Amino acid sequence: MNILKNYIDGKWSESASKDSIAVHNPANQEVLAKVPYGADTAKDVDRATKAAHKAYKEWSKVPVMKRTQVLYKLKTLLEDNREALAEVITNESGKTRAESLGEIQRAIENVEVACGTPMLMAGDVIEDIATGIDEMMIRQPLGVAACITPFNFPGMIVFWFLPYAIATGNAFIVKPSEKVPMTMMKVFELIDQLNIPDGLLNLVHGGKESVDAILENPIIKGVSFVGSTPVARYIYSKGTANGKRVQAQGGAKNPVVVLPDADIEMSSKIIADSVYGCAGQRCLAASTIITVGDDKGEIKDSIYETVKNRTTGYGLDNVDMGPVITPESKTRIEGLIQKGVDEGAKLLLDGRNATISGYEKGNFITPTILENVALDKELIQTEIFGPVMSLISMKNIDEALQFVNKGNYGNMACLFTTSGANARKFRNEADAGNIGINIGVAAPMAQFPFSGWKDSFFGDLHGQGKHAIEFFTQTKVVIERWPNIWSRKF
Ligand code: NAD
Repeated sequence: MNILKNYIDGKWSESASKDSIAVHNPANQEVLAKVPYGADTAKDVDRATKAAHKAYKEWSKVPVMKRTQVLYKLKTLLEDNREALAEVITNESGKTRAESLGEIQRAIENVEVACGTPMLMAGDVIEDIATGIDEMMIRQPLGVAACITPFNFPGMIVFWFLPYAIATGNAFIVKPSEKVPMTMMKVFELIDQLNIPDGLLNLVHGGKESVDAILENPIIKGVSFVGSTPVARYIYSKGTANGKRVQAQGGAKNPVVVLPDADIEMSSKIIADSVYGCAGQRCLAASTIITVGDDKGEIKDSIYETVKNRTTGYGLDNVDMGPVITPESKTRIEGLIQKGVDEGAKLLLDGRNATISGYEKGNFITPTILENVALDKELIQTEIFGPVMSLISMKNIDEALQFVNKGNYGNMACLFTTSGANARKFRNEADAGNIGINIGVAAPMAQFPFSGWKDSFFGDLHGQGKHAIEFFTQTKVVIERWPNIWSRKF
């Protein structure tokens, strides 16, 4: 089987590395491809960086209205290839066709918002800050920027950054997760059809070695990262120590609070979608469900009824949920469930040892629900990243808020209620960057920043929308004086 190529300087080329690892379909372990890996992938990054720097010099001089024309073409190409892209996403990440199509839609929306860059990157001018002296702030590109992305959204996450980076005049390098490199191969086949300077957009593969090469290369001025918290923290500290602008989105552990006045049926359906969407492998997936007050078990029963018939299987079949990403991930999640049981939690639904007919080798775990989970234990404290719901209960909203705010992560918190006053209190007091009221939080629309807090984000400016425009530009303030020589008498 051939090793995947990089896309550097406008051409497909072999990696400098002869090492590779296999990419598997998580539903059946079929080997889909081999992806370059190991120390020599650093050489690919260096080559991509040189090509990007050359392209940036030319591209940054192209008027912004012309730069965004490329995005209109890219949007059309993505739209025309939705189905094919969705199939690739499902086959390498495991999610369902509907989830994959949703990802592509979110990618397209980011391209659309970035088409507004001619307005979004406008600066400011104040005339006559002193008589005859004008001052202005303009936005200029950083130069070369790169993104490093996780396995769980192979199509969408790159687009939180890429369209904004090039619309503002930068050249860009994409380093996708080595577990799911195929979607970007397909995206770069589309990019190859754009009429852009060679080197403007580059794709390099690999793992830690190629990431370190990005962090160490002095030509790269901006790094956008999405992945687990320990790696996000590492990227942020190493990247900023090397003088780069860094935005690093990390992991999560998302609580959902259900007040006694919540609409039980609606809340159960939404909570189930939030916990089990993408097999729980979303950084905004609900994980711990806190029922508040004199809970008589109605919400538990309703959730159980909603969840028990959800179907699990190969994502291109008509199912509600796919497998988790690797056999190691399945083992880790099943281990966490067992540990929870050993520590006193009660299993309402046990999704371990699931076998799916025709897909016996797949990494399947069906929806799992545990109740009475101890608050100080791993199931409640760590990110599970699998289809597992922990049910706990608390006395009142204040106790629930205290629990929400004690957590290390701050990606998302949700409240279900029919009380406006409680909703307002929660919105104001919950320490999380994305809040849902009577709705699970999906990735924010492209107009809004992806706003993680605490250990879910390291940096200042987030991905998407106006934040992305600011991230990929540096401000320059110019003060000018033009003596009116024409009024002089010669
Ligand atoms: P990961 O951190 O293992 O990998 C992410 C990227 O970092 C990959 O490209 C990988 O090659 C690279 N990498 C991995 N280990 C590295 C190391 N030691 N040094 C340098 N680079 C390294 O994450 P993952 O398992 O692919 O993705 C799942 C995680 O991503 C979860 O924690 C999830 O919550 C998080 N996530 C967060 C968001 C968000 O918006 N906050 C969105 C999606 C996923």
